[in-house]
Amino acid sequence: MNPHVTILGAGLSGALMSIFLARNARKVVLYERRPDLRKVDMDAGRSINLALAARGIEALKEAGVFEEVEPLLIPMRGRILHALDGQQSFVPYGQRPHEVIFSVSRPGLNGVLLDHAQRVYGISAKFLHAARAIDFDRDELTMLNEVTGDPQRLRMAPLIAADGAGSIVRRAMTGQLGVRVTEDMLEHGYKELTLPASATGTHRVEKHALHIWPRGGFMLIALPNLDGSFTVTLFLPLRGSDSFATLDGRDAVDDFFRRHFPDAVPLMPNVAREFLENPIGRMGTVYCDHWAARDKAVLLGDAAHAMVPFHGQGMNCCFEDCAELHRMLEATGDWSRAFRAFEHERKPNTDAIAAMALENYVEMRDTVRDPKFLLRRELSFELERRYPDRFIPRYSMVMFHHEIPYSVAYDRGRIQAGILERLTERVATVAEVDMQRADAEVRAALPPLDSPAVTDAERTPRRA
Ligand code: FAD
Repeated sequence: MNPHVTILGAGLSGALMSIFLARNARKVVLYERRPDLRKVDMDAGRSINLALAARGIEALKEAGVFEEVEPLLIPMRGRILHALDGQQSFVPYGQRPHEVIFSVSRPGLNGVLLDHAQRVYGISAKFLHAARAIDFDRDELTMLNEVTGDPQRLRMAPLIAADGAGSIVRRAMTGQLGVRVTEDMLEHGYKELTLPASATGTHRVEKHALHIWPRGGFMLIALPNLDGSFTVTLFLPLRGSDSFATLDGRDAVDDFFRRHFPDAVPLMPNVAREFLENPIGRMGTVYCDHWAARDKAVLLGDAAHAMVPFHGQGMNCCFEDCAELHRMLEATGDWSRAFRAFEHERKPNTDAIAAMALENYVEMRDTVRDPKFLLRRELSFELERRYPDRFIPRYSMVMFHHEIPYSVAYDRGRIQAGILERLTERVATVAEVDMQRADAEVRAALPPLDSPAVTDAERTPRRA
């Protein structure tokens, strides 16, 4: 097996994959189109922080890099919902102490992965090198040095394409190998804004939560940063009455924020300026029917399956991809078989999380305000306490149970949603729920999960 491998893209997937491969004595060359993010501040306006959860943490542990990531993490225990009248309510993510997710800086995390790859394995990414063309028949990859303008032709195989949602490798696979791809773009976009720290550098709203201002057709969210600020993201339709198309000047922006987010306005003194300066981000789902091109190339991470960000799982899923591809390589010892096995095993899971991420947008911006949603959530925790090996809330399966594949979470989640709906049809509190019927429904429809329960102590990462 050829030990040399090229990785395209030194983002989150490419950087972690390089570590996995180098641990097993592969010779990795990592190319990245952009400058080194550890030296140049580039990410303004593009998801500056992210939610990291159990799946991502597990992969980072497997790669031996989690200890270096830990100091960057801020635990978030649940959602704080901000109503229009300023009332706040806390909705916990889980019901056990370790059931939290973590806010982490994207450039911080990416930088730690690149540092680790360099320090431990001597991999120094070639920045400002962009792939410009791929020829599968000739087994050729054309790179362009963005500084000198010099093109360079390389032998391609094996190539791991971690070049993100707009992957040039995926496009070449479509054009040359007949791979079918659908890119479903959302009619909503996003814009990043800032809620700055107080004068003394502290957080001006609760630090250990993800804040949401759900407004039906749109929403504002905020995740904490280590410096006391929050990164705020507005998700809004691209067209229509309240949309990016109509917010075209300072007055319109000020008026929009005062009408819909009155409690956030005093905390965000630069909101109109930032809104007018920052770009509108687009979001979508990429479905690609094949990820592997014989022994030559494989798509990894967003290049294979970009998804909308509403379950906070895109990066977590990419990290799980890296661990899975690494396992396949070790099991088969053969690039072609590993690439095919990876695609075969992984795709049902990435399809499932992509579907759940789309469903979660409606939940975050709208359903969370519905008393029935809160009742079903409370009942799902009660059923989890009664049947911990059979009933685990879908959100918990996705975010806290890395041992449960996404596709299982999706299938069981559907069954559970039906049970919850039937049990809460005519009641307003959990105390009124017919628990005999609940018992019968859970036992009949949800066989015990065979994954061993993991103890709280094993799961809880040391806090930063
Ligand atoms: P990317 O991060 O896109 O990296 C690809 C890299 O390849 C880039 O560095 C790029 O410059 C490089 N590249 C591209 N083309 C070329 C080329 N031709 N030659 C050389 N290099 C190239 N996920 C979560 O888990 N939790 C969250 O809370 C979360 N929030 C999000 C919020 C938003 C608004 C968005 C948009 C996404 C969010 N995600 C989240 C998803 C997450 O950002 C992605 O899943 C993740 O960044 C994908 O990593 P990647 O390395 O596959 O792709």
